[in-house]
Amino acid sequence: MKIGELAKITGCQVGTIRFYETSGLLPAAPRTQGNYRVYGEEHKKALQFILHCRALDLSIDEVKELINLKSAQASDARKAHSIIENHILEINKKITQLESLKSELEFLAHKCGHDHREEKGETCCLIEALHQ
Ligand SMILES: [Zn+2]
Repeated sequence: MKIGELAKITGCQVGTIRFYETSGLLPAAPRTQGNYRVYGEEHKKALQFILHCRALDLSIDEVKELINLKSAQASDARKAHSIIENHILEINKKITQLESLKSELEFLAHKCGHDHREEKGETCCLIEALHQ
């Protein structure tokens, strides 16, 4: 199949497929005589694997490490577990950062007690605070 068809089947942008190919995540597609890249079932499977990992917010580097791991090999399995465990730790850090961001926003939102339903010339403390 051509790249457009692979894009359609997988719901992945053509540019993203090219990026995965140039970064070595996807095996290079052989070309036809007309110089079109031809993608097969192995490309589709590899791309779906990449997309699944990306949907889990794994980085390109993490996907690179995961992509060739064999499920029946203990050393590979240990690698996979360690990558996922590290990823969970990173997610926990992000959750902590987002919670602190949320508190900051809630503080800002409650800083101004005016309802602003009418033009009363009241100063909005929220807008004022954003300027500080
Ligand atoms: Zn206000």
